[in-house]
Amino acid sequence: MTMQWQEHASLKPFNTFGIDVKARWLAQAHNDAQVRSALESAIQRQIPVLVIGGGSNMLFTRDVDALVLHMASRGRRICSDDGERVVVEAEAGEPWHPFVQWSLAQGLCGLENLSLIPGTVGAAPMQNVGAYGVEIKDVFAGLTALDRQTGELCEFTLEHCAFGYRDSVFKRNPGRWLILRVRFLLSRTLSAHLDYGPVRQRLQEQGIEAVTAQAISDAISSIRREKLPDPAELGNAGSFFKNPVVSVALAEQIRTHYPNLVAYPQADGGVKLAAGWLIEQAGWKGHREGDAGVHRLQSLVLVNHGLASGAQMQDLAQRIQADILERFGVALEMEPNVY
Ligand code: FAD
Ligand code: NAP
Repeated sequence: MTMQWQEHASLKPFNTFGIDVKARWLAQAHNDAQVRSALESAIQRQIPVLVIGGGSNMLFTRDVDALVLHMASRGRRICSDDGERVVVEAEAGEPWHPFVQWSLAQGLCGLENLSLIPGTVGAAPMQNVGAYGVEIKDVFAGLTALDRQTGELCEFTLEHCAFGYRDSVFKRNPGRWLILRVRFLLSRTLSAHLDYGPVRQRLQEQGIEAVTAQAISDAISSIRREKLPDPAELGNAGSFFKNPVVSVALAEQIRTHYPNLVAYPQADGGVKLAAGWLIEQAGWKGHREGDAGVHRLQSLVLVNHGLASGAQMQDLAQRIQADILERFGVALEMEPNVY
């Protein structure tokens, strides 16, 4: 398949915020050969390259003077199966949620808590995607990436990825590696994680006694549909800020003024605060300035009501950060990749 480079292409359909910026060039890569060909051409023409998947963790604040390479590679397969433990692999461009549903249909457990996360398989390791008490590091079996500095293929183990909370070696070195495919170690026996948020309660409400991975996936999907805006209807990139981990002393100081503080002690001795709760206490919930706003149900999600620019979204985010720092002494870090 020959590869087309589209000039001055709108990126509106390629980011879930629905921000209308243009890419100097846009191309779709369906396989490794097209990835290599695009990168080589870009080097020859001295054009920078920005790789994207579903654009669900991006905030574009300006036109992109680069080749935007959209990962459109597809394919998922079982690599090994000892009857209990099964390694599956998917190409970078595979949409994440259908991949999760495919794994469940094979009778495989491990990805159910990560249901309904938008985006692609290839981007999932970038921030070690996580939800409802599970992160991909918990089921990670390896990945294959192209080193863009050397052109060599690299195999990454769990250790190499240096996964942290919404973090990885890939996030800390943007543009260094292009992830081609990812492997997960799944299991035929369910090890259910139900203690996070309202998952157990939702299953009980549904009268489900024999809990299956598919039932957990369905319960989490229904909770998410109630709380989170669908990007097809209201532009957003999910949580706009990471949940901050602060010292016990700071958490206690905040609690003297806010006895209902939502705080989770961490294994390392810190305390994770719910950023959405802080933003809500500060009065930002449902706030709107033109088309840039804070979601009315979940303050951690910034939304584009239609025609907001990326710069307007960023400006709103920065004012929220300044306000939270002043009120609580807590520095909020943005989660999406800002370009
Ligand atoms: P993109 O936004 O396209 O890219 C993200 C970053 O990865 C960019 O820096 C890009 O350059 C890079 N990248 C993309 N593909 C590759 C590749 N193949 N190789 C190298 N670099 C690459 N995240 C969570 O962790 N948990 C959640 O529960 C969650 N819920 C969400 C809910 C909603 C409604 C939305 C809109 C977002 C949510 N997110 C969540 C954020 C987002 O969906 C994830 O981070 C997702 O993994 C991003 O995938 P993507 O393909 O859209 O990445
Ligand atoms: P929630 O249940 O209202 O909880 C608020 C925050 O408190 C969460 O973000 C979560 O942190 C933390 N939390 C809740 N229960 C916890 C527990 N038992 N132990 C430790 N921390 C706990 O959150 P929500 O907004 O509806 O999201 C539900 C899950 O989906 C969360 O895991 C969230 O991260 C994930 N999610 C992520 C995005 C994104 O874009 N990154 C978007 C939507 C949802 P953690 O975030 O650290 O889990």
